[in-house]
Formats: sequence, C-alpha cells, structure tokens
Amino acid sequence: MKLNATFVTSAFAPDGFPKWARIEVAIAGRSNVGKSSLINSLAAAKGLARTSKTPGRTRSLNFFSIGERLAIVDLPGFGYARMPHAMAAGLAVLIDDYLTLRADLGALVILVDARRGAEREEIAMAQAARDRGVEVIPIGTKCDKLRRSDYARVLASLAPLGRDPILCSALKGDGIEELRRRIMTFTGQSHRRALEAGAVAAGTGRRMEH
Ligand code: GDP
Repeated sequence: MKLNATFVTSAFAPDGFPKWARIEVAIAGRSNVGKSSLINSLAAAKGLARTSKTPGRTRSLNFFSIGERLAIVDLPGFGYARMPHAMAAGLAVLIDDYLTLRADLGALVILVDARRGAEREEIAMAQAARDRGVEVIPIGTKCDKLRRSDYARVLASLAPLGRDPILCSALKGDGIEELRRRIMTFTGQSHRRALEAGAVAAGTGRRMEH
C-alpha cells in the first residue's frame, strides 16, 4: 500500500512551518542520494517527488500530510557541490533549526548511499536527532548496486546512526514496504506520549516550540 500524501506547504524559514498537531517524519540526505526516487516509491502521489525536484523547492522544507495524524517533511538535499557557499550554509542552518526546534518531529529518516556510507554530516544529524529523543531510521539507498555479500557489512556500517537500518532500492523496490511500515508506526497519539515521556526521561523536560 502506497502512502497517500498530500502536499501542504513549503517553508523557507521556521515561521513557515505549519502549526498543526501531526507527528512529522522527516526525510534527509545529501543531494543525489536518491531522495526523490525513494519518496516517489513511497507515495501514491507522483507530485510528491516532482515537488521535491521543483526548482526553488529544493531549497525549502516541503510538508505533506498523510491521513489525519501524520506528515512527511522532505528536507533540502545537502552537500551539493555546485551550490554557492552562502546558500549551502543558509540551508544547513534551516535544516538544523528544524531538527533541533521542531516539537512535532517524531522520526528522522536519514538516507545514505549504500556504496558510499555515512559521512560527517549524516553522523552529526543522527546524533542531534537522537540527543532529543527523535528516532532515527537509517536507510542505505540504491542497494541494487551492492552485491548480496556486501549487505551485512553495509547494514553494520549504518547501525551507529539508528536502530534497524534498511537497505532500499527505488529501482527494484527492495525495502520500500518495510520503510512504509516503519513510517506508519508514527501515526497516533500513543507515540506522541512516548515521545514526551522520553524527552522528560532524558532530562530535557520541556520541548521548545517552533
Ligand atoms: P536526489 O537528488 O536525492 O533527489 O536523487 P534522485 O532521486 O534524483 O536520484 C539521483 C540519481 O540516482 C538518479 O540518476 C537516479 O536515477 C539514481 N537512483 C535513484 N534511486 C536509485 C536506485 O534505487 N537504484 C539505482 N541504481 N539508481 C538510483
């Protein structure tokens, strides 16, 4: 079953983040990691991936609602070599603002090219999310380019980012249903309560509002 996602808004600054009572699952990765292709495989609406590639919207956070209680947030791709430095720095701040301040964030899907492995940015991003009690779902993309004999090694290399990494191929469909299921576990109040309980237990107490 594909996720039925509806585009809601693009935000270029924190004051553009929607005010709603949804659990957000954010999807992050460096440019060319295969984010648009993966989002396209996850979602029923073709427009989702198109949105993620629309000029201008590659520099915004794009919010999609799923059902009554869930949302997907497509974060801008980072590490684009030809992007002017000031623009890349601005995007990094926007992503960081979202990851550190957003109370609605329930899980962060971090995409890593399975052949390339996690680099400094992905490791730092995973750490920042976990530090505030946000579950990280590590994904190795384009796994069709791996040999089967490499799977165990690549999964082990992704494990430090978060629990139960998944190898995905947007091309062949591997891992897509499993990722969909993981995302759908964030629907519902019980997770929000668990999230708040976790934040209190971790000593952060009050969560910052956007
Ligand atoms: P984005 O920049 O992260 O949105 O990446 P895209 O989805 O545009 O993909 C970047 C490149 O990787 C394109 O040439 C895609 O065709 C290719 N690609 C994406 N997903 C896969 C995959 O699962 N397998 C393979 N072999 N190539 C892929």
